[in-house]
Amino acid sequence: MIVCFDQCDYCRSSIFSGQRWAREKIYDPELNGRDPSYHCYHAEPLAGQEASCWEKHEMEREFARMTGCAA
Ligand SMILES: [Zn+2]
Repeated sequence: MIVCFDQCDYCRSSIFSGQRWAREKIYDPELNGRDPSYHCYHAEPLAGQEASCWEKHEMEREFARMTGCAA
């Protein structure tokens, strides 16, 4: 069963039905066989934004990974 809170984990505002969204599984080593949980993000740019919450989240993650490798 997919549990998705109807809230974007990036901008903290609601994801309404009909809006596209993306989910990311949260890898928790302490999960131990229990149901995984997910982060949800808007997959479409909000009005006035050039990138969606999901894209921004991906960019941040990529940036963190790059800086981590450079260290
Ligand atoms: Zn959002």
